[in-house]
Amino acid sequence: MNASVVVAGAVFDQGRLLAARRSSPPELAGRWELPGGKVEPGESGEQALVRELREELGVESRPLERIPGEWPLKPGYVLQVWTVALVSGDPRTLQDHDALRWLAPDEVDDVDWLDQDRPAVAEAARRLRGA
Ligand code: C5P
Repeated sequence: MNASVVVAGAVFDQGRLLAARRSSPPELAGRWELPGGKVEPGESGEQALVRELREELGVESRPLERIPGEWPLKPGYVLQVWTVALVSGDPRTLQDHDALRWLAPDEVDDVDWLDQDRPAVAEAARRLRGA
């Protein structure tokens, strides 16, 4: 059986990357992630991402580019990541998170990212720097 897909967004705005601090579950609380969630049956990855960012942050967003690759999460789940532009709204902590930070390129390593998000964060930071 194929692994279930969790999608996450490297949200870019004004040259900065959005990081979200998880409030649950206990084993992930306090760690920072690219916001997102599980793809539901019948959804594309991009559709799921737009929905998750609406639910979790209260924003409308537009996926830009899939960051190549996918990364294992818990058994049966893989993480796929897109760069994302904000269309409207200011991100707020509505679900799953208790803090947000906009990180400039030289601040990307300042937060304790979830281990599984780190390769995609590094790629996102390269794009942010225009490398
Ligand atoms: O946010 P949600 O609980 O739907 O995410 C499903 C799972 O995907 C979580 O258990 C979390 O471990 C994982 N996840 C992750 N990195 C992200 C987003 C979610 O590891 N950026």
